[in-house]
Amino acid sequence: MLTTHYDRTDALPAAVQGLVLDLLAAGIDPERSIVYRQSDLPEVAEMALLLGMITPLGWLERVPTYKERLRDLAERDIANLGLLGYPVLQTVDITIVNGELVPVGEDQISHLEISREIVRRFNRLYGEVLVEPQALLSENPLILGSDGRKMSKSLDNAIDLNDDPDAIRAKVRTFLTDPRKLRKGDPGRPEICPVFALHRRFSQDILAWTDEHCRTGELGCVDCKTNLADRIIEQLAPFRERRAQLAAEPGLVDRVLAEGAAKVRPVVEQTMGAVREAMRFA
Ligand code: SF4
Repeated sequence: MLTTHYDRTDALPAAVQGLVLDLLAAGIDPERSIVYRQSDLPEVAEMALLLGMITPLGWLERVPTYKERLRDLAERDIANLGLLGYPVLQTVDITIVNGELVPVGEDQISHLEISREIVRRFNRLYGEVLVEPQALLSENPLILGSDGRKMSKSLDNAIDLNDDPDAIRAKVRTFLTDPRKLRKGDPGRPEICPVFALHRRFSQDILAWTDEHCRTGELGCVDCKTNLADRIIEQLAPFRERRAQLAAEPGLVDRVLAEGAAKVRPVVEQTMGAVREAMRFA
């Protein structure tokens, strides 16, 4: 959030609370998965500074998502070091806890490739200290937003997990469709339609039917979007209920973050100690 909205830090506490509640409501169990806040561990910033010393600018400037962000958010003044250096910070997030497999979206693969290059460079220069991570892609490696670009809060094209049914219906109505299908009766091309991309995730019960009836033109986009919105609302209902219950528990998020930081601190301190020693700081 800071890379693109550094002038809106008043929204940070609520964003942290919301993100942790999302994770917990989605089923992340803090007993099995450590949930912690990056800024609770100053070693992260220290290691980012050190890895920044060995990261060529050319690697960072080549990252496609950097140029896309500058283009997509042209109205904001975000050509800053934080955004350019984001892959370095991401490398630290992964390597400071010895991450081996990193669940990423398709658009993050270039970031991870830089992480792997930075790790190889570090290990070549200072000895085998950092673990080289590998990508772990999900079955849905890229979810499209209402404008056909990657779904992202900062692009304002996302359906939030916590959206209520009215908001979900309103957002689905704004989704782009096949531009050649102007009205019911026109044949459509589901393979290029962002609405169909979401049907793949939410509408297994009518996926083949939607594909067929879009192509023949019998299915209109308005009805198709209604079918999609119904399914998203139904499938996110348990998440919304669970999130509301969790939000009502006083101090829950602060407790989860404090316990997470305490659990991860020894690992982070151990890695940072090894990095300092390898670079002759200790
Ligand atoms: S009918 Fe559905 S899948 Fe086909 S173009 Fe319209 S919204 Fe997309």
